[in-house]
Amino acid sequence: MSDPVLSIRDLTVEIPTRGGLLRPVDQVSYDIAKGEILGVVGESGAGKSMAGNAVIGLLNRPAKITGGEIWLNGTRIDKLQGENMRRLRGKDIGMVFQDPLTSLNPLLTIGDQLTETMLQHLSITQTEARKRAIAALEEVGIPAASERLDSYPHEFSGGMRQRVVIALALCAEPSLIIADEPTTALDVSVQAQIIALLKRLCRDRGTAVMLITHDMGVIAETADRVAVMYAGRLAELGPVREVITAPEHPYTDGLMGSTPLASKGLKRLRQIPGSMPRLTAMPTGCAFHPRCPKAQDICRHDPRPRRDGGRAACHFPITHSAEETA
Ligand code: SF4
Repeated sequence: MSDPVLSIRDLTVEIPTRGGLLRPVDQVSYDIAKGEILGVVGESGAGKSMAGNAVIGLLNRPAKITGGEIWLNGTRIDKLQGENMRRLRGKDIGMVFQDPLTSLNPLLTIGDQLTETMLQHLSITQTEARKRAIAALEEVGIPAASERLDSYPHEFSGGMRQRVVIALALCAEPSLIIADEPTTALDVSVQAQIIALLKRLCRDRGTAVMLITHDMGVIAETADRVAVMYAGRLAELGPVREVITAPEHPYTDGLMGSTPLASKGLKRLRQIPGSMPRLTAMPTGCAFHPRCPKAQDICRHDPRPRRDGGRAACHFPITHSAEETA
């Protein structure tokens, strides 16, 4: 990979509680290249959003980064505070969240929000900012863009609002977009349109994307590579096609078996027995061992980390025949 836009190295986030230290993100490492879409997938509580929030400096107290490093375009950013972090958000990192209303100010028109963001981060005039705001709305498919510039967020439908949020996230020309469940709150009929739009715009501009979702179908349609998280740790990381067709980690294998899209051709969907452990009751060794059909003694006390160049953090990864991986 050429120099990555985002590089996360052994990132650890901890939450001090009366009952002890909880670790929702545990030594997670991945890179995202220019123009690449990395899908970060996992069940609720797997740590995928917490890792994204750590990158943009939006961890809710008392959660904090206690280990590892985050680099953006060659600059270390995990120690940035206050104004420096705020400047980075919006300019270098754009954000698209599940609920578009959390990203939009209900008291300002769409045009004011777009032009304000551009004027804050780009050296352009008010007239140029307005011109670019219209172009940005046209690009995300808002009809009659120049008239809609003076509309307020509540005057748009959910799908249109999310288009506006994408325009807002991209208008300062960031090098990285973090999209956290960007379609979960939308009607099924518009989900695919929003994902296709995000993919096209980021590809065209060479923007790196961290796409956080619980939906393996969205990952399969959109991502170049996928990072599978389980109980705060990275279970598997690899090219999306390979991970889907020939998962190496038993958890990924279970996830694929329980996903309709990936199980096409299977008579019945499989279920993974049990549930993901709570942070307060994390098993020793590999966190997946109580649910894993391949678990052996070593798994119960030694959490094998993923090695550079390898795909799965597993003592006994699943091997596949050449036909399966073709
Ligand atoms: Fe299963 Fe052991 Fe691999 Fe964990 S390390 S996924 S318990 S085989």
